[in-house]
Amino acid sequence: MSDREPAVMVTRFAPSPTGLLHVGHAFSALFAWRAAARAGGRFLLRIEDIDRGRCRPAFEDAILEDLAWLGLDWAPEVRRQSAYMADYQGALARLAEMELLYPCFCSRKEIQAEISASGRAPHGPDGPLYPGTCRQLDPGQRADRLAAGAPHALRLDMAAASAIAGTLVWRDRGRGETTARPERHGDVVLARKDVPTSYHLAVTVDDHLQGVSLVTRGEDLFDATHVHRLLQALLCLDVPDYHHHPLVRDAEGQRLAKRADALTIRALREAGRTVADVRAMATARH
Ligand code: GLU
Repeated sequence: MSDREPAVMVTRFAPSPTGLLHVGHAFSALFAWRAAARAGGRFLLRIEDIDRGRCRPAFEDAILEDLAWLGLDWAPEVRRQSAYMADYQGALARLAEMELLYPCFCSRKEIQAEISASGRAPHGPDGPLYPGTCRQLDPGQRADRLAAGAPHALRLDMAAASAIAGTLVWRDRGRGETTARPERHGDVVLARKDVPTSYHLAVTVDDHLQGVSLVTRGEDLFDATHVHRLLQALLCLDVPDYHHHPLVRDAEGQRLAKRADALTIRALREAGRTVADVRAMATARH
């Protein structure tokens, strides 16, 4: 889509407003902010709010307020993914033209039943792989269901997509040059039944459109990068460097989840912790 080189280094923090930020988010935001600061680059904030059922404006307000309280500043334009569905539609149209997408009508339950019945369930990084039921649908049946308005997701035909893309690598500042293995994910969903995009698609398109040159994020998203690298190749998008950082863990060594209420920035603030205290917690705890 573009052959421009970013003039300056650009990083981003891309939270989903589905809860309050906790110390782990503070670490991640500071990690990206510091990387930009060190390089004299730009730090962007992106609100990943495609999941309308789970996202709340109040959480978005709290995110902005907590980051500002932590002393972070970001470029004035804050991209809210929900306002850019047309960009994701464009990417889907391109993949459809390449005949790499197919509608999937399956419910979670049906997928589960199919997997159990097959007796062999290849596993990917996120659990059992989609068994490909709707990829093998008879074209007439598929057309009938579409014509009847049956709700469906759009899946990537992973075998075909990987074959077109060939071998792909990315530069990972933590792990060095990394070979992408997107096929381990199977036929990923690129547009959900309820939202006409998905995490994988929106994040990859946005990082390109926003000129992000270094993607920093937790190592829990390392596996997702294999899929993102493939989408970049298929859609002719720029390939940023990546740095997957360690996750902040609690005293028992468990990773923090949003329900770690006591460790939200808000709760720590209300308990009288200072910015310096929270920054120190976000640096030490991993
Ligand atoms: N929105 C994602 C999250 O909150 C992060 C996406 C990313 O950094 O790629 O987990």
